[in-house]
Amino acid sequence: MHILKKIGLKLTPQRLAILDYLKGNTAHPSADDIYGAVSKKFPSMSFATVYNTLETLRRNGRVLELTIDPQKKRFDPNTEPHHHLICINCKKIVDIHAKYELEVTDTMKSGFELTGNHIEFYGICPECSKNT
Ligand code: ZN
Ligand code: MN
Repeated sequence: MHILKKIGLKLTPQRLAILDYLKGNTAHPSADDIYGAVSKKFPSMSFATVYNTLETLRRNGRVLELTIDPQKKRFDPNTEPHHHLICINCKKIVDIHAKYELEVTDTMKSGFELTGNHIEFYGICPECSKNT
C-alpha cells in the first residue's frame, strides 16, 4: 500500500510531488520552502495542501517537525535518531550522525523513562563566516 493511503490521504499528483521533494532531502525545509518548490510544478496547489499533508505525515511519524528555528517549523524526512548543527545566522540545519554517550543519573531523570535525545549544536556555517 502506498504510504499516502496508509496514513489516510488520497493519492494526488500534488501530494506525490510533496513526498518526492521530501525524499532524501537533508535541507530541513519549512512548509514555505516546500510550497515554493512544489508549486512551481503545480501552480494551482494551495499552501493548505502542503500544510495538511505535512501535518498528517508528522502525526504518523513519517516526518519530524523541528522547532529549532523559532521563526518557522522545519521538517525532516529522516526519522532515524540523529543530531543537528544549526547556523545561528542563516538558520541552516545540518545533520550529525553520531552516538554520544551522555550520562543521566537516576536523580537527574526525575522518574522519567528515557526514550531518546536530540542534541543541537549552534555555530556559524562556512558560507556565513565567509561573508562577515
Ligand atoms: Zn549560515
Ligand atoms: Mn536532520
